[in-house]
Parts: sequence; C-alpha cells; structure tokens
Amino acid sequence: MNIFKYLPKSLGLIQSIVVLLASFVVAMVLSLLFLKVDLVNQKQETKNLTQEILTAVEAGATNAVWTLDSDLANQVITSMMALGNVEKASLMDDKQTVLAEDKKTSDANSGFTRWFAQKFIGDSVAGHRDLYLKLGQKTRKVGKLSVELSSYQVADKFLDLAVGVLITGLAQAFLIALALLWLSSKLVTKPLTLAANTIANIDPENPLKTPLPVPDIHKQNELGGLLRDTNIMLGRLANTQKQLRQLATRDPLTNQPNRTLITDRLNTAITRAKRKKSILAVLFLDLDRFKHVNDSLGHDIGDILLVDVAARLKTVMRESDSIGRLGGDEFLIVLEEAGSVDSIIKIVQRITDILSEPLLLQGHDIRTSASVGIAIYPEDGEDTTTLMRAADLAMYEAKSSPTPWHFFSKGMLERVESRLTTEAQLRNALEEKLYSLEFQPKLFAENGKVAGCEALLRMQTEERSISAGEFIHIAEDNGTIVEIGAWVLEEACRQVRSWNERFEPIPIAINVSARQLQEKDFATRALAIIKRYGIDTRLIEFEITETILLGSLENNIKVLKELREAGITISVDDFGTGYSSLSYLTELPIDSLKIDRSFVSGPKRSSAILEMIISMAQTLNLTTVAEGVETQEQMDWLVEKQCDLLQGYFISRPITPDKFEQEFLSPSPKRQ
Ligand code: C2E
Ligand code: MG
Ligand code: MG
Repeated sequence: MNIFKYLPKSLGLIQSIVVLLASFVVAMVLSLLFLKVDLVNQKQETKNLTQEILTAVEAGATNAVWTLDSDLANQVITSMMALGNVEKASLMDDKQTVLAEDKKTSDANSGFTRWFAQKFIGDSVAGHRDLYLKLGQKTRKVGKLSVELSSYQVADKFLDLAVGVLITGLAQAFLIALALLWLSSKLVTKPLTLAANTIANIDPENPLKTPLPVPDIHKQNELGGLLRDTNIMLGRLANTQKQLRQLATRDPLTNQPNRTLITDRLNTAITRAKRKKSILAVLFLDLDRFKHVNDSLGHDIGDILLVDVAARLKTVMRESDSIGRLGGDEFLIVLEEAGSVDSIIKIVQRITDILSEPLLLQGHDIRTSASVGIAIYPEDGEDTTTLMRAADLAMYEAKSSPTPWHFFSKGMLERVESRLTTEAQLRNALEEKLYSLEFQPKLFAENGKVAGCEALLRMQTEERSISAGEFIHIAEDNGTIVEIGAWVLEEACRQVRSWNERFEPIPIAINVSARQLQEKDFATRALAIIKRYGIDTRLIEFEITETILLGSLENNIKVLKELREAGITISVDDFGTGYSSLSYLTELPIDSLKIDRSFVSGPKRSSAILEMIISMAQTLNLTTVAEGVETQEQMDWLVEKQCDLLQGYFISRPITPDKFEQEFLSPSPKRQ
C-alpha cells in the first residue's frame, strides 16, 4: 500500500502537520517526565510531614499515655486533627489499648482526583511513632502514636500543577511549531513555489526571458545554488533552442532564411499587404548556368558563388524586403509596398545588374546572370503557394525571354497544364506507338543540292502531332529520353536502310541527348544497332546540344571519340547558346557546328555573331550548318558568307518520310 498517496499535496501543509505533531509529542513526553518526578517528590514530602506532625506532639502524647490521662490524650489527638490534611490520628498504650482516636472523612472522596490519588499515591499516607519514656537508666516503650494524611489533597495539588504544566507545554509546542512554520515557509516553501511557478511559465521559445529569481538571503545556500544551476541550465536550453531555430530556419551556406522562414515571411507580408491594401511583389530568382559552374569548376566554387550572390542581393535590397534561399541556385525575394510595375522593374534591374558583375575566384573569372520571375499580390495570387508557384513559372519564362525577368501571366498556367498532359502522354507513348520521325533537309549552300537530313521526333496524340521541342525536355527531365532515344536511332536506321534500297544514300542526322551519352556503353550499343541495319556509319551524324556537351566534359569526349573513330559524324547543335570558348572547341572531337537558329532568324539575330562563328569554324576546319533559315534574304547572306550547309523552313519544314522521298531523294542509279 502506498501511504504517500494519502499525503496532502502541499509541501507546506505536510511540514506544518509534521512539525505540530512532533512538538506536541515532545511537549507531552517532557511534561509527563517532569510530573512523574514531581509526584515522587510530593509523596516524599507528605511522608516527611507525617513525621513532623508526630514529632510536634510526641512529648504531649508520651505524657498522656504514661499518666493514662485521657483528657490530655484527647487534646493531643484533637490538636493533630486540627491540621488540615490529617485524616486520622490515634494514640495507644503499650498494650495496644486506644487512649484517644479521631477520624474525619474527606469531602472529596469521589471523581477523578480520588481515583488518581488511589491509583498513584494510595488511600492515605500514614506515619507511626513508638513512644518511649526514660526511667532512670532504662528506656521503656509506653505507647504508639499514629497519623494518616489524606492522599487526596496531594493528588489535588499535583493535578493542578499537571494541568498547568501540560497547558504551557502544549502552548510552547504550538508557538514553536508556528514559528518554524513561518520560517520554513518564508525561507523554503515560498521561494520553491515561486521557482515552480516561474518554471511552469517558461516560454519554451525563449527560456531565458524569465530567469528564476535568487533572493539575497539564499545567495549563499543550497537553494540559491539550485536556482542558479537551474538558470544556467535554462541558458543552455536557450542556446540549444537558438541553434535549433537557426538550423530549422536558416540556410547554413548563405545564412539567409531558408524555404520555411522565407515562406513564413511571405505569409506575414501578405497579411500586412492585405491590411494596408498595398502591392507586394514576389521574385523567384534562378541563376543561369549554375549547374555548369558546379560541374566544370567544382562544388566549392559553386558554394562560394552562392554565398556571394546572397551577399550581393542584400546590398540592393531595402530594409523592408526579405530574401531567402529556396535551395540549389534558387532565391526568393519579397518586396513589400512594391509600388508600381515600373518601380518593381527598377529593383529587379538593380538585382540582375549586380549579379551580372563578374566574380574573380581562384583565377576564374566567373560571370553569372540570373532569371527572375515576378508575381504580384493580389493580382496573381493571394496566398504563399499560389504566389510562389506563379513567380516560379514566370522565372522559367524569363529563361527564354529577351529580358532576364518576366512577369507572371495566366497563360503560363495553361502551358503548365498542357505540360502535365504531355507528361502523362509521354508515359505510354512508346507502347502505344505514338512516336514517328519527320525529316528536314539540309542543302549545300554552294549548289543547293541535298546534303542530308535531320530526323526530328514527333508524338501523335488524338488531337495533334506534337513537336519534339514541346516534349523532349520533359522526357530528358524524367529519364524516358533514354528509351525514346534508342527507338529514334532504331527507327532512323530502319528508314535509312529502306531509302538506301531505293534511293541514292543520304546522310542522316540524329539528335542525341546528354542523358543518352551518359548511359553506360552508349557508343557500343549505338554502333551495334547501326551495324545490325547494315548501314555505313559515315551516313550517320549525331547532333549534340552545345549546353549539354559542356557538362561532364571528360566522359562526353570519350564517348564522342569512340563514335567518331567508328566513322560517325559529330556536330554541335544549337551552337552559340552555350558560351563554349575556342579552346573548348579544339578539345572536342567534332566535325561540324550547327549555328543556333536564334542567331539566324530568332530574336537574338545577329550578323556579327554569325560571321564570327563561321570564320571561327573555318579556322578550326569545321563544317558550318545554319539552322532556322526562314527567308531568301537570310539564305543569300549565308551563301555569301560561305556557310557550308543550310536548313530551315525556307527550304522545307520537317516532313513525313513519304513526302521527303518524293521531294528530296533521287532514285538510286542501281534501280534506274
Ligand atoms: P534542333 O535539333 O535544333 O532541331 C531543329 C528544330 O528547329 C526543330 O524543332 C525544327 O522543327 C525547328 N526548325 C527547323 N527549321 C526551322 C525554321 O526555319 N524556323 C524555326 N522557327 N524552326 C525551325 P523540333 O522538331 O520541335 O525539335 C526541337 C528540338 O528537340 C531539336 O532542336 C532537338 O534538340 C530536339 N529533338 C528533336 N528530335 C529529337 C530526338 O529524336 N532526340 C533528341 N534527343 N532530341 C530531339
Ligand atoms: Mg538538331
Ligand atoms: Mg538546333
């Protein structure tokens, strides 16, 4: 049985009860001891008194018994009886004959006192004296005097005393208990209760906000030590809390708010903007070609760059703006009270300007640039998720827009939806045989003859034929490009063999994605397929996009070398978009450059760049192909500048194999 569960809950109360009981018991025991001694003393004193009485009347009594004077005897007895507590007196001669005797009964022979007297003292206290007379030389016993004193009076006196002693004892005990209680409550219970209340109210987020008070009186003692140690512990807790908060809310690399914290700040900013009815801009910033920096210069440099970017961003932002790193090379910036679109653009421009300043790191001149997507509250969304998503979408748009920033528009959402649909279609397209190839011719600039063709992938859905440009990047993202690429190569080879049987052999260019190049044994497997169809490798050309060539350069060079040694032509696709330097080009095992169509007919169209690329290619002995030729004028200009091959809508759009046969293939001499 657990008796502790019956104890009162308050330490103070337990202490009071224990102190009170203990002092009562002690007081009682001490009083009783004292009384016991006193009782013995009183008994002795009464005994002494009987002797004193006997001594006082001894002479008279001796005389009375000797002379047998009964009057005198009676006088003696009467004088004895006159004494207050004498209950009985008698005088006898030597023959035991009573000469005089008297007795009185006590008036208080009932009740507690009598009981007490009988129990602890006896009925009475008696004293006897033999009476002697000196006759000549002899002493002769002549009688006997007796007296009995009432024990009742002794008991009465004793009980009076006992009551007094006990009452003062108990009162003392009570007062001591009270004093102890007051003292312990002031010194222990109260400070403990205060400490307990403070501990109960500690703010777990900020444990040191209310440290435990250490009263002066306790500074030196154990309680003070306990309170001080608790405060030290709270300090440690606060520190750990701070570190945890830092870990949970800060990006350890840049020390800027992480996704959680910046989302939280955006949320608060939205609430504020709602209240003030002000405009808020959310900027989603992504560094361009950051992966390239990481891949080619190493992650350490990449990290330094990110720290530098965060620091630069801070310098152009106002106090009220917040910045956070979402992960990788993505940052989110919240501009409160953004004002007009013009002022937002000004800030964004400041941001992109400062980020495009070169950074000199370990001998590398690193040039960064950023794409910024902008979403506005309340126009583009009223909650964090919608606004961040909108800004993210706008950022993707910015990547391919002439300005490094882009505002969100509703059309982007539609594009995302169509991307999602395409993604779903891609999943089953191979089994459902939805893929096909179209072919676009390349002409020799100098004589306009067909130099070859490029195989371009199409996906046929119920509604329409979708161009590779719309879905290849998705297939690259989710990895299906590897299987699709294998199908393209197989299908292209099948087509070439079929054409070879009927027409003059025609070179065919096949697009190869970086993911395919990274596949183990890509070269071996590709060559095996080509061999299986009995095709001369010299008729096969692989087009590899410049930007993807630059990542994991070493491996790519190895694979390309192997393919090239087997006779396959290698060309760099979309050349001019990837910033490869001349030295890079000389390292690459390539045969031709396909100038990106944006320089020929796109928004970045520039005859200076075109001229530069053509002359560079000539120096390096590379064939130049211009894609995206859309007008006669462009074609004439390229011919004049001695670009080797031409490809584009002006010559022909990509078309089905049947159409291609009819329009561009000449019958084989064998069949004529
Ligand atoms: P690319 O290799 O640079 O292909 C040229 C793209 O430009 C094709 O788009 C073509 O239809 C388009 N084009 C050709 N002439 C003109 C022109 O005069 N003006 C304009 N505006 N466009 C022109 P498509 O078919 O949508 O392909 C886009 C990209 O997808 C290709 O760019 C290539 O990188 C990739 N791709 C296509 N097929 C495959 C494939 O089988 N495998 C892989 N891995 N990638 C492919
Ligand atoms: Mg291509
Ligand atoms: Mg291209």
